[in-house]
Amino acid sequence: MTEIWEYAVVQLNSPTDDDVRCWLHQNRLDQTGGGFNFRKSTGNTSALSLHSYGIAIDWDPVHNPHKKPLTKPLPDWWYNIWTKHGWSDGRHFKTPDPMHVQFATGA
Ligand SMILES: [Zn+2]
Repeated sequence: MTEIWEYAVVQLNSPTDDDVRCWLHQNRLDQTGGGFNFRKSTGNTSALSLHSYGIAIDWDPVHNPHKKPLTKPLPDWWYNIWTKHGWSDGRHFKTPDPMHVQFATGA
């Protein structure tokens, strides 16, 4: 989150904290659908979702739907920051889930 904040600061050239919050909001980077949620996986209902373990977060689910074809207004730089810190994302799932980032691989 710190790195995402710092990215926004660079984009805005000496902004106030409110400027950064506004920019993040305008880019829908402050919209979350939640993290921890004890439930079955939507892709495999015989398994628990990684949300059940608190290691996944959904971002802006309204505009980043879990469906084919991939639809994602979230920027690539944002995914790159998550990936850099060991998270993976659902853009590459069999059915793309671009709202989803998880601190796990192979799921
Ligand atoms: Zn998710």
